[in-house]
Amino acid sequence: MSESKDFLRVKVEEDLKSGKYQTIVTRFPPEPNGFPHIGHAKSICINFGIARDYEGHCNLRMDDTNPTTEDTKYVEALKDAVTWLGFKWDGEVRYASDYFPKIYDYAVQLVKMGKAYVDSLNEEEIREYRGSVTEAGRRSVYASRSIEENLELLERMRQGEFKDGEHVLRAKIDMSAANMKMRDPLLYRIRHAHHFRTGDTWCIYPMYDFAHCLSDYIEGITHSICTLEFENNRDIYDWVLDALELTPPRPYQHEFARLGINYTVMSKRKLLELVKDNYVNGWDDPRLPTIAGYKRRGYTPESIINFCDQIGIAKANSMVDVAQLEFCIRDDLNQKVPRVMCVLDPLKVTIENYEGEEEIEASYYPHDVPKEGSRTLPFTKELYIERDDFMEHPMEGYNRFTPTQAVRLKHAYILTCKEIIKDEKGAVIELKATYHPDSKSGADTSGIKTKSAIHWVSAKHAKEVEVRLYERLYRVDAPDGLEDLNPDSLHVNTHALIEPAVISEKIDVRFQFERQGYFYADPIDYTDAKPVFNKIVGLKDSWAKKAEAPKHTPKIEAKKAHIEGDVAPMNEDELARFERYTKSGLNAEIANTLARDEKLSAFYDATLLHVNSPVSSANIVANEVARELKKELPLRFTAQDVAELVKMLDEGVISSKIAKEVFEVMVQTGEKPLSIVESKGLKQISDPAVIEPLIDDIMAKNPENVAKYKAGNTNLFGFFVGQVLKLSGGKANPSIVNELISKKLNHG
Ligand code: ATP
Ligand code: MG
Repeated sequence: MSESKDFLRVKVEEDLKSGKYQTIVTRFPPEPNGFPHIGHAKSICINFGIARDYEGHCNLRMDDTNPTTEDTKYVEALKDAVTWLGFKWDGEVRYASDYFPKIYDYAVQLVKMGKAYVDSLNEEEIREYRGSVTEAGRRSVYASRSIEENLELLERMRQGEFKDGEHVLRAKIDMSAANMKMRDPLLYRIRHAHHFRTGDTWCIYPMYDFAHCLSDYIEGITHSICTLEFENNRDIYDWVLDALELTPPRPYQHEFARLGINYTVMSKRKLLELVKDNYVNGWDDPRLPTIAGYKRRGYTPESIINFCDQIGIAKANSMVDVAQLEFCIRDDLNQKVPRVMCVLDPLKVTIENYEGEEEIEASYYPHDVPKEGSRTLPFTKELYIERDDFMEHPMEGYNRFTPTQAVRLKHAYILTCKEIIKDEKGAVIELKATYHPDSKSGADTSGIKTKSAIHWVSAKHAKEVEVRLYERLYRVDAPDGLEDLNPDSLHVNTHALIEPAVISEKIDVRFQFERQGYFYADPIDYTDAKPVFNKIVGLKDSWAKKAEAPKHTPKIEAKKAHIEGDVAPMNEDELARFERYTKSGLNAEIANTLARDEKLSAFYDATLLHVNSPVSSANIVANEVARELKKELPLRFTAQDVAELVKMLDEGVISSKIAKEVFEVMVQTGEKPLSIVESKGLKQISDPAVIEPLIDDIMAKNPENVAKYKAGNTNLFGFFVGQVLKLSGGKANPSIVNELISKKLNHG
């Protein structure tokens, strides 16, 4: 983590270093109007992750300012999601509604300061008066009401004397502000509605823009992290806190890109529709991108957290391939779960030359997995194999069981087909076969060559189970609405046959069914009488193949990069760049940022002409250079200069933190990076003899944390690294610091 920090952590470190804050306080502020989804998981990982990394804390706050859509069942779901992901909020769950009295007091204060007024235009007039992007707005005549009149009206609004929409409270800012959100934004509106927590105490409710910044302030939040669509709201956020002359420390808002995943809808409104109208079976339907859905399906918290780590944090919206999430769960389970045999579509095989019964000892784990445990597989005359593991008229390259091709039964013997039995319609219903007694797995002296090993179960011993197979909920990569639903997203197979140990031994709840995929014992419907398994994910990434297939039509491609709601599809050039960048190893978010901006991508390509280091270059170009280009002023540095900076970074001459400082100087003075580093003595310190005393210093100053770490709180590792880096003025080489601290804490 310490190697290349995301821009939020860079900011947090800066703020700690400058002494702006002593302790970092973040919050995850959902509106309890639906179950949280994987996008929320990203926000949870960011907010709780930053608090953890810098020894601060993170609040869980329900942003419950909208009485009509909220409910306690969503509060519970949100708590569940955070806990399941392994995070712990500070103190009790908090609620914006608990602050309603304080927020109201602040509103009164603004009125008294002449900075807010009661407006009596109706909704339509308010919209009309606001003007447009190209046209300034006009102020309402009511804006000239006296302070006394405003105070009285506001109080009467609160007392419930007016109907919904009769009046609103507005901030008096600037009706011709370039940022339209600043054109006298609404602070309070009348809403005669029952609130799930405050009941009928209030009939006026604060608007998001007013309640959010004040809730943050009340809780002592330092970094108010939100998604990009709130960028323009930041001015209101700052205005409110400034106008009220609130004493520091105060929070600042920082925006990051929201997560979008192809084949997935992520808006709570659309998810609610699916649930309410029974297109899926509840909020925890395993096809939904809700945390409850992933949990029910069998995803592990680790896989979701890894996914959130991998996609990174960037400042431009982009689309992540759902295959990446699937990769994360597969990757997590691969080394963890037992492998067993389950036949989904059984075809009977009778072994003519086998009598009796034997028990075969078979490991649950393959050799390369450092786990132990085994079960016995009963082997008998009558077995079931997977129907599509046999072909009477095989196509070329088919390497499983055929009339002329022997096959190995996994963990057991080799079979040769003798006879095919069909029903009156010609469908194969049974095979007669012979086995080779000297071909037993691990002791095979038969000399018979086979091309594959197939799974099987003993007919007499197998247990019937229900297997729920899920396909993508949407059939198109950028789904919009109900018309894009995949009508075949759920297959329930009630006649799968599983080896008996899975049911009797219950060694785990997640399994790899050999050659089929990963499965999870459904936490709700599973009973011993009727075991039910959910398919978590297949074994192979069928997606990768698709992506390499010959070019899609441009139309489909353009859609591929389309992000729900707020981002335009990519044109062909952008897509071509996007693909080139992701192929060269950039993550999707960065690739997207670069690809969509012609100037930026040209700059990036030019940088690569001077240094062959796509990832480091992209990081600097997509963040630092992008910021400068946006200013639309002449640049004082060239792509070659940036390449020089990247080289120093890659060679470890400077840390990524210093690189940012150097870049700032380049921006300001146009000086060459090498000369900045030399003249300012910014070279990274890698000498253990210099770093060790810093570590000793920090350990000596924090004996409690040393003790806690040694007692098992390994989360504190990041704290020590952070402190040492800080003490070195950001000059210590992070990987050497890591190594040395690890030595001292773990062995010292
Ligand atoms: P939706 O638009 O899906 O209904 P929302 O933004 O209205 O979501 P909130 O409950 O307001 O949902 O969100 C709580 C927090 O989670 C906010 O800080 C929000 O920015 C963040 N968040 C929501 N969706 C995403 C996403 N797709 N990616 C990253 N963060 C998200
Ligand atoms: Mg919202």
